[in-house]
Amino acid sequence: PAVGKQDFIRQIVRDDLAQGRHKAPKTRFPPEPNGYLHIGHAKAICLNFGIASEFGGVCNLRFDDTNPAKEDPEFVRAIEDDVRWLGFEWAELRHASDYFEVLYRAAEKLIRQGDAFVCDLSAEQVREYRGTLTEPGRHSPFRERSVEENLDLFARMRAGEFADGARTLRAKIDMASGNINLRDPALYRIKKVAHQNTGDDWPIYPMYDFAHALSDAVEGITHSLCTLEFEDHRPLYDWCVDKVDLAHSPELLQPLLDRGLPNQAAKPRQIEFSRLNISYTVMSKRKLVALVNDGLVEGWDDPRMYTLQGLRRRGYTPASLRLLIDRVGISKQNSVIDFGVLEGCLRDDLDAHAPRRMAVVDPLKFVLTNLPEGHAETLSFPNHPKDEAMGHRVVPFSRELWIEREDFAEAPPKGWKRLVPGGEVRLRGAGIARCDEVIKNAAGEIVELRGTLDLESRPGMTGADRKIKGTIHWVSAPHAVPAEIRLYDRLFAVADPDDESEGKSYRDHLNPASRSVVRGWVEPAAATAAPETSFQFERLGYFVADRRDHAPDAPVFNRSVTLRDAWSQ
Ligand code: ATP
Ligand code: MG
Ligand code: MG
Repeated sequence: PAVGKQDFIRQIVRDDLAQGRHKAPKTRFPPEPNGYLHIGHAKAICLNFGIASEFGGVCNLRFDDTNPAKEDPEFVRAIEDDVRWLGFEWAELRHASDYFEVLYRAAEKLIRQGDAFVCDLSAEQVREYRGTLTEPGRHSPFRERSVEENLDLFARMRAGEFADGARTLRAKIDMASGNINLRDPALYRIKKVAHQNTGDDWPIYPMYDFAHALSDAVEGITHSLCTLEFEDHRPLYDWCVDKVDLAHSPELLQPLLDRGLPNQAAKPRQIEFSRLNISYTVMSKRKLVALVNDGLVEGWDDPRMYTLQGLRRRGYTPASLRLLIDRVGISKQNSVIDFGVLEGCLRDDLDAHAPRRMAVVDPLKFVLTNLPEGHAETLSFPNHPKDEAMGHRVVPFSRELWIEREDFAEAPPKGWKRLVPGGEVRLRGAGIARCDEVIKNAAGEIVELRGTLDLESRPGMTGADRKIKGTIHWVSAPHAVPAEIRLYDRLFAVADPDDESEGKSYRDHLNPASRSVVRGWVEPAAATAAPETSFQFERLGYFVADRRDHAPDAPVFNRSVTLRDAWSQ
């Protein structure tokens, strides 16, 4: 299996399977449900689910919900939605909170082994005792408590007897370790806050490192893939897994068996990879929240947001995001991917798969005076120039057209190929037309063009082969449907919006031209599309029918990406 991708993690999985260490890999995607997923998460999702499916394994979706104060069921639903939208299905849906009873028993086991103790130092004292990078820490005065006393105090922590922060359960590892994560880190803290899944059952909550490592072990995760900032945590991860040794302590798993959850304990291995960073974006949940709360965007799914919900609404397809992750690859090298790479993935996907349509965003009337009043006909246009299988559509054509205002110039610049007074242009798929007359209003503004259609140049006629410099798109004015067209661009004007030098913040880096809304006209076969249908509007770019606001009688299209990259020039 999986001959395709050759990154170092897939190589490890391949080797492990070849050595018979596992029959199949089991991975997990472990988001904290404290915000919406962003494009960085797509990398972790594609990696975990991708490896599982390529090597005949499975991947769990696990909510790392050990922090009750910050978590919200709204995020849980959105995360499930996003993972499915990206094209993946989890084997089991779990929560770290499913394991609270197992984790509690595991902590008791550590106490009985002399590997954990209840500490009465305050948070501030713990910091003082911890030492620094250059200085070893000092032992807590509570480190040598007896097993009995520790078991008793831990039980009373669990019973809710002590105030928040009064005590912690700490691992007994090494206060002199060069790795500060190993200096007797906290395993449990007291926090009398209701939890979205367990309600008021628990006044104590496990710390991330302990809960994360053991959740992996409980689920039988073989390869625990995480981002590089957890590299320093790996020794603690291994310590938790080894000391608790779930695989050989089936009794610890009894609470799960009682709830009908399968016992799959295994020894997982943590492997780190570099985060996805993309220029012109911010990806921290904190900043994404602030953009919403400060009203700088219109919500979590604003089409300029780098949340998966925002990208989806902008018109990014799941395939384009999976393509991005493939192109970026997996390594331990930190880097920043140019935003143009992301846009290029969308263009490549939509160029191949999006049907073509015609729309006019800045309309100017063009009347073909040699056609009879009320003349109307239908033309058949291929939906895609290179994919006959995508079929044809009916495009109405008539005496009165809308063309793009910028396709006409009274005084054309050098090299101009489009319409000029007295000049000819090809009307996409309809024939060759000449401009005979320019009608202006009292203010001198052009309000209409009048001209003639060369009746020998209709589609299929030999006169259609005449060489004409320019081809423009159009829609038939009586048939076109008025549409709201939202022209989006990058939310930030600078490559590094996180740059905080000179007292700046990401707020100072916003692109003032990231959104403008115009009224245009679209051909009927665009208007009738279902929400979330993507099109190439010929010569304009790729657009998507807005997921929330589009309706066939009141179409709303979002510009997903322009046809060419205007930023990297
Ligand atoms: P943020 O720091 O942006 O708030 P997070 O890491 O706190 O994100 P989690 O919900 O904990 O968010 O992330 C779930 C998983 O997604 C983790 O395994 C994390 O390593 C991974 N992840 C988060 N951001 C990125 C990124 N930019 N690139 C790759 N993986 C990421
Ligand atoms: Mg996190
Ligand atoms: Mg984080």
